[in-house]
Amino acid sequence: MSFGDVRRVAIVGGGVTGLTVAYRVVHADPSIEVTVLEAGPIPGGKLRSVAVGDLVLPAGADSFLARKPWAVELCKELDVSLDPPGATGAYLWTEGGLVPLLKHAPFGIPGDVGDLFHWPGLSGAGKRRAAQDLVRRARKGDDDESLGSLLRRRFGDEATDLAVGPLLAGLYAGDVDRLSVRATFPDLVAWERAQGSLFRGSQATSKLARRSQLGPMFVRPKGGVDRLTDALAEHLGERVRTGVAVTAVDRGRVMLDGGATVETDAVVLATPAHEAARLLGAALPSVAADLAGITYASTGVVLMVYPDGTQPSLPTGTGFVVPRGKAPMTAATWLSSKWPDESYGTRAVVRCYVGAVGEEDVLDADDSDIVQACARHLAAVVRLPDMPEHSTIVRWPASMPQYDVGHLDRVARIRDCLPPGVVVVGQAYDGVGVPDCVHAASDVAEQLVADVSTDREETVP
Ligand SMILES: Cc1cc2nc3c(=O)[nH]c(=O)nc-3n(C[C@H](O)[C@H](O)[C@H](O)COP(=O)(O)OP(=O)(O)OC[C@H]3O[C@@H](n4cnc5c(N)ncnc54)[C@H](O)[C@@H]3O)c2cc1C
Repeated sequence: MSFGDVRRVAIVGGGVTGLTVAYRVVHADPSIEVTVLEAGPIPGGKLRSVAVGDLVLPAGADSFLARKPWAVELCKELDVSLDPPGATGAYLWTEGGLVPLLKHAPFGIPGDVGDLFHWPGLSGAGKRRAAQDLVRRARKGDDDESLGSLLRRRFGDEATDLAVGPLLAGLYAGDVDRLSVRATFPDLVAWERAQGSLFRGSQATSKLARRSQLGPMFVRPKGGVDRLTDALAEHLGERVRTGVAVTAVDRGRVMLDGGATVETDAVVLATPAHEAARLLGAALPSVAADLAGITYASTGVVLMVYPDGTQPSLPTGTGFVVPRGKAPMTAATWLSSKWPDESYGTRAVVRCYVGAVGEEDVLDADDSDIVQACARHLAAVVRLPDMPEHSTIVRWPASMPQYDVGHLDRVARIRDCLPPGVVVVGQAYDGVGVPDCVHAASDVAEQLVADVSTDREETVP
């Protein structure tokens, strides 16, 4: 990635990625003219809140991983204070009710096989097959494979479909048999290679974690995750232009809806990949085809507020995950336990996730049907009323990029074929979570600023 002589940078997309690129560039070199062009009415992208009854609740991301430190570091720089979760531990949805997920189990894989044998989430046969992980030979070869291919080889189908798969593929709203293991959970590849077994890999990782006394796994900016994007936007001030949709990009020219153009030395496309494909389609059709090949799942969140006095009905923990197709939701979070807030009082506040690859038709139903289906299934496993007092659905069409087998090669190819001065960055490429977006955005900003400095040094007589 080389940007040549950069004095002006146009950033398309004012989500956490675009705002972080802008913030880092401005912070490092205020002489660079930075403009963020955001189509929506407010910056923040998938970090935003929505009103449900008298409460303000997260519509997209609700928190982020603290153990990938980049978003935490950015919050600290911006004086955005962080809360640890109010509860830990989660459950697995089973036909017989909620079963606590195993503790000390990185990626849902216990380090102690004894724990697996005492766990009620799998049949005896399923557990015996999973334990074969300890004696099966490691795969040879370096080529990519699906997450499902690795898990099925090591643990068998039952543990893959009913236990580990829902947890891991759920983070991508994806299909375990399509997701690239190298692009999603490369640690599992390393565990198999180094230890010959995922159980032993998990054991080694758990031991290390205990020795390093890591803090909480997740954190949330106090008051809501969008405090981070609010703080970034505040720092950038008038450099962020909202309600400005970009229609095409051709190297130094950015075309806006309405016919205006912005002249620039570098363009950072911090939009979803399908949108980057559309913007570059006329100028760079083959790169656009590769960008469009990054497919997306549509998802939604169902936010439900129950009456006063219901919070104690929620089991201790943060929520549950659901094996594919077993319930209308793919997962649920007890928001009022995980991120308690005075405004909730004694009300249970629950957020269900709906939609994933192959399960997107659920989003076509009427709002009231979706709420009813989720509430009925919740009431079957938790002592909550049949319906919440207030509810809202937020649909996120084409929102979760699928890192299918071959994803890393595709991204490398896209980047190799982009001309100098054009870069793509964000959730579609180097990690789907907020910390990954902040990390990748910071790298792009560093490269931009480094290129400017080099150019300046080269022009000094
Ligand atoms: C329901 C849901 C829950 C999630 N939960 C979590 C979580 O708990 N923790 C976590 O770490 N991650 C979570 N994620 C993922 C996280 O939200 C994303 O990784 C992150 O917000 C992506 O940021 P981004 O800036 O790359 O993209 P986006 O947030 O998608 O921002 C892209 C921006 O580009 C703008 N744009 C698009 N096209 C144009 C155009 N032509 N012109 C101008 N602007 C344009 C859009 O309006 C948007 O604002 C969740 C995602 C979803 C959908």
